[in-house]
Amino acid sequence: MTFNCENCEKSFDQRLGLEQHVISKNHGFTCEICKKVMLSSFSLTQHTEAKHKKWECKYCQKSLETRKGLKFHLNAKHFVVECRKCKKRFLDKNELKKHIKAAHTLHCSICGETLKEREQSTHMREVHFQCPCGENCDSQEELHNHLDTVHNVVKAYSKDGKVKGERKSISLEPDYS
Ligand SMILES: [Zn+2]
Ligand SMILES: [Zn+2]
Ligand SMILES: [Zn+2]
Ligand SMILES: [Zn+2]
Ligand SMILES: [Zn+2]
Ligand SMILES: [Zn+2]
Repeated sequence: MTFNCENCEKSFDQRLGLEQHVISKNHGFTCEICKKVMLSSFSLTQHTEAKHKKWECKYCQKSLETRKGLKFHLNAKHFVVECRKCKKRFLDKNELKKHIKAAHTLHCSICGETLKEREQSTHMREVHFQCPCGENCDSQEELHNHLDTVHNVVKAYSKDGKVKGERKSISLEPDYS
């Protein structure tokens, strides 16, 4: 591997040689901000990005020294509303509302009704998996089984989840025979 001086194209076997050359001939790239001398334009760019890049707040144009500082500033000054479920922060209540709708709202897979998380299982049991006899099942399969074994009914549900049923026997009373 060789190390080339970008200013005079002299090359060196070792980094140290280049370093000495750059310093003695003043062929380096000086950082305007901290006056540190870099061996190549590439490392100067890297240095500037890492050390001196400002993190600008797009809401109030304040610039912060570090990404962490910007994050802190954003949370303290701008993202003042917090989602209680996932701790994500938002600019205002509207943003939070949108987020909750998108991230924390459930829709019933059968009827599309908007449900709160804790309502989901009750909704399924009471609206979709309830047998006309009043028995609540946990799933369509369970309801199907229930209808089949207890009431002797086949094709118990239609696509919208409502119990339709073609009865093999007439009564919805449990058939214990
Ligand atoms: Zn040189
Ligand atoms: Zn610098
Ligand atoms: Zn700001
Ligand atoms: Zn959330
Ligand atoms: Zn539903
Ligand atoms: Zn039943």
